[in-house]
Amino acid sequence: MNEKNTAGRLFVLSGPSGCGKNTVYDGLCEINPDVVQTVSMTTRAPRENEIDGKDYYFVTKEEFFKRVDNGEFLEYVNYGENYYGTLKCEINRLLEAGKTIVMVIEVCGALNIKRAFPDSTSIFLLPPSVEVLSERLRSRGQNSEEDINIRLSIAMDEMKQKDNYDYCVINDDLKTCVDEINAIIQK
Ligand code: 5GP
Repeated sequence: MNEKNTAGRLFVLSGPSGCGKNTVYDGLCEINPDVVQTVSMTTRAPRENEIDGKDYYFVTKEEFFKRVDNGEFLEYVNYGENYYGTLKCEINRLLEAGKTIVMVIEVCGALNIKRAFPDSTSIFLLPPSVEVLSERLRSRGQNSEEDINIRLSIAMDEMKQKDNYDYCVINDDLKTCVDEINAIIQK
């Protein structure tokens, strides 16, 4: 599939789990009110404070795979023990409305989106170091030790893909990082 991005503009913000994608996205929204995000679907259980329909559409594996069979996903991945995917209807609706979409997803999905939307801009967010990444995952207090180890091992593989992105930005100082990404969006 090779989709033409006609009205809206599409950016993909990706990088390993714990590199601060969601924090950077929130910072971006504060300084750029035009930015919107697609809501992904996942089979992961909601964390405390996560809202269905806002953070994710939380569904069972059965429901997720029904939609896979119906061809409703633009892309989906198996990440750790769960599935995550971007619905076609979600992205098309926002593009047709002329929105500046910033998708916040993991690396395989980001590369698939770039293939489907060659006009999109991909941004890889790097942690300052692997030690900082590991500390961030632990300090979130949201993941078990086993889950952290799975995420760190996925992160090592994901970081090998950084040269396949249009831009690489280091998330060391949050404000500097957000400003840098906003400058890319406003180019
Ligand atoms: P978490 O469980 O921490 O919310 O998400 C795990 C990983 O899945 C993160 O790297 C997140 O960015 C990614 N992710 C969330 N939604 C999607 C999606 O729709 N597609 C893909 N490919 N990755 C996603």
